[in-house]
Amino acid sequence: METDLKTLRPLIDKCVMCGGCHPDCPTYKLTRYEHDSARGKVVLAGALLDGSLSPTKELSATFNHCLSCMACTSACPAGADPARVIVSARGELFKKYGGYFEKFLFRKMLTSRPAMPFLAAFFNLTAFMARLFPRLPFLSKFSSEGKQKVFPDFSVKNLKGRFPEKTPAKGNTELKVAYFVGCMADWAFQSSGAGVINALSSVGAEVTLVKDEVCCGAPAYFAGDLDAAKISAEKNAGAFAGRGFDYIVTSCATCGSMLRDVYPALLGKTAGEEFAAKVTDFQKLYADRMPSKPVPADGKEKKVRVTYHDPCHLSRGMKITAEPRRILSSLPGVEFVEMADASACCGGAGAFNAKNYAESVAMGEKKGRNIQASGAQIVVTECPSCQMQLMDLTARFSPGVEVLQMSELIARVRR
Ligand code: SF4
Ligand code: SF4
Repeated sequence: METDLKTLRPLIDKCVMCGGCHPDCPTYKLTRYEHDSARGKVVLAGALLDGSLSPTKELSATFNHCLSCMACTSACPAGADPARVIVSARGELFKKYGGYFEKFLFRKMLTSRPAMPFLAAFFNLTAFMARLFPRLPFLSKFSSEGKQKVFPDFSVKNLKGRFPEKTPAKGNTELKVAYFVGCMADWAFQSSGAGVINALSSVGAEVTLVKDEVCCGAPAYFAGDLDAAKISAEKNAGAFAGRGFDYIVTSCATCGSMLRDVYPALLGKTAGEEFAAKVTDFQKLYADRMPSKPVPADGKEKKVRVTYHDPCHLSRGMKITAEPRRILSSLPGVEFVEMADASACCGGAGAFNAKNYAESVAMGEKKGRNIQASGAQIVVTECPSCQMQLMDLTARFSPGVEVLQMSELIARVRR
């Protein structure tokens, strides 16, 4: 997979302008502007490439107004892979319009372990200030229709600092896995990270936390800073490769698809593919090894109703959809119910939410209402960015519904 726009002309030329990508595109559905659709952006990328359109700040903003949800790529009958073309166009424009703050964040902070506590403190401070001074210009964008964004709490100590480097398998060691914790499970959603370690150990895996792990590079990659993404890929390959792990396990859809699908382009074919071949998602590994469903004692136990939201980078990226449903259907005391449009994007998409909060809420409203309509008490997902967005959406549109990562639900019901 190439990331350089110059090499993607064959993909751009595949677009037959059919508009098949329109119905599922969240930005197009919201604004109805052609430049907010995948088709529009593919045309703009082609014009940028042949020089008939000059690179401008406005063009950069147009390419950034996209959730990288891959719905267009899944829908495209011609194989034009618009989501990939769009990221590569951002890469071209980032060279000229990438800001100092973004470059500092992606290249110096996210690729450096010692910088992470400062970043965690910065996010907590931002959340605190947004609660205190919601009308300040920088902070007012974190509210929509009179309600403020729900922020996660970042911890002062990371998960990798709380757990030993190796957690032994319960019973015989059948696998040696490295858990790629990811920034959010390391600093914010630690109970999900702890749940992954314990669940993997319970199914016969010795779990190693690699202390030199840095951000997977996805925030940089999706913003178009391909140089910063490459720094992350090289650091992580150096930290994880050649250590005899059977698998490198992720519990974040975006980390997983980044490590598995993008690292080969960033690291070069041999090193990247060797690394990517070991990457798997926690749910997949757990579903293949989990204990069989225990028979209920009298069939009258009170069940909790649980629904599942498919993260885009897990369902469309890593193609994992059956395994989470298999786990939910087998957990004791759980009644799994499908919500409508479970695979529709929640509108979160990390930086998109931070930059376009009101739009992000508008895109997610249907998701929030579908969760409510499912009658579920808990909504489960496997992506911290989705988790954050669902916490916000449930507070607005499905109050009382709890948001959990799969590993947290497993920890709760398989005590
Ligand atoms: S990635 Fe998603 S938001 Fe972006 S153009 Fe494709 S469908 Fe639209
Ligand atoms: S990107 Fe694909 S789905 Fe969209 S208009 Fe072009 S060919 Fe059709």
